Amino acid sequence: MLHRVDLTPMPLDSYQPLVGEDVITRLRALSDRLRGVRIVHINATPYGGGVSELLRSEVALLLGLGLQVDWQVIAGDTRFFEVTKGIHNALQGGRYTLAPEAKEIYLHNSAANAGRLDGNYDVYIVHDPQPAAIRHFQANARGRWIWRCHIDTSEPNPEVADFLTPFLEPYDAFIFTLESFVLPSLRRRRVRIIPPGIDPLSPKNIGLPADVCERIVTWHGVDRRRPLLLQVSRFDPWKDPLGVLRIYRAVREAVPGLQLALLGSMAHDDPEGWYLYEQIRADAGDDPDIHVGSNLTGISSVEVNAFQHCADVAIQKSIREGFGLVVSETLWKETPIVAGRTGGIALQVPAAADALLVDPLDEPGFIERVRYLLDHRDEARRLARRGKEHVRRRFLITRMIEDELTFICELLGR
Ligand code: UDP
Repeated sequence: MLHRVDLTPMPLDSYQPLVGEDVITRLRALSDRLRGVRIVHINATPYGGGVSELLRSEVALLLGLGLQVDWQVIAGDTRFFEVTKGIHNALQGGRYTLAPEAKEIYLHNSAANAGRLDGNYDVYIVHDPQPAAIRHFQANARGRWIWRCHIDTSEPNPEVADFLTPFLEPYDAFIFTLESFVLPSLRRRRVRIIPPGIDPLSPKNIGLPADVCERIVTWHGVDRRRPLLLQVSRFDPWKDPLGVLRIYRAVREAVPGLQLALLGSMAHDDPEGWYLYEQIRADAGDDPDIHVGSNLTGISSVEVNAFQHCADVAIQKSIREGFGLVVSETLWKETPIVAGRTGGIALQVPAAADALLVDPLDEPGFIERVRYLLDHRDEARRLARRGKEHVRRRFLITRMIEDELTFICELLGR
């Protein structure tokens, strides 16, 4: 059996003051139309990274709406997850050669995971490339199958995209975050564009008293009398943490006493994280003003929340980004963030706060913008507030759930 993540149903009533009555009414009407429909979400990890963050909240809310929903997580050894991370990187345009042995590892594990998938469902939602080939090995399974891609596949490595295509063919429908991410081989298929959203009531995003946040970051060694720069991201080359260290050093020349926190969760399906973590530690050296933490060194969601609340400026130095939940999470706390103008990040920053976006490879641009925002606090806060309003309107998880349930109703003809 695949690992099942057990969650407690989350009633929607508490979301009403934040999202309004209409949204709740529409969600209830959609779930009435899906009464009795069995849905399963399948992904590669129960913790670490945006997909698990999303599913943790989404599945609990769907259960709260009275829907029959399960969340199952595939298994695999380190070699399998090294191959799937290679596939992930290649789909984002990175260099990767899919050796025959790697294909064999991917298919062997996919067949094993397909064999372990239990239960009969009416709708299967399979997230990202790691579990994608399960559909192929479940050729007789009834129900509708949706492949939900969270990564930036706008310029995929053609060899890897070609390898994956036959395993995507048998799906009934596809969800991408942006139109430009739709793989060429799927353009004529049933595709829906649905960007993710954040859960405003999760421990990561719930409003915490300022003094509690300050106490938490102080406990982690941050000096509240001096400015703090923050990046929260998996330790992943696409998030360019070493670039963040360079930017921190350059800004510090003009802003003495600047501190940096790099919080990076380790995900079960991302073996690259450990390698990068060591590189960051080595690069940070013995600078007492660089704080490197992760979920495995005890940084919980509430602590990430406190850091996002207390940072003077956050940074998201992504080179490619499917969505980047951290951008909405940060703006939700009215904290200014300087972020790479790439993929789903650009969606989350409204035109009125465009000054928060920088070309992803323009390091001097990041340095200049971080400095500027540290020097112009009122303006920085104004931009962040505009961002928050945009997130409230477009990037809360209730909007994502509404889009998904609408799509499922259409697929099932309900
Ligand atoms: N995250 C966390 N602790 C960390 C680093 C990241 O909880 O130390 C969370 C972060 O708050 C966000 C998710 O991991 O909710 C990352 O999602 P995102 O979409 O930004 O990027 P992904 O990891 O999916 O590429």
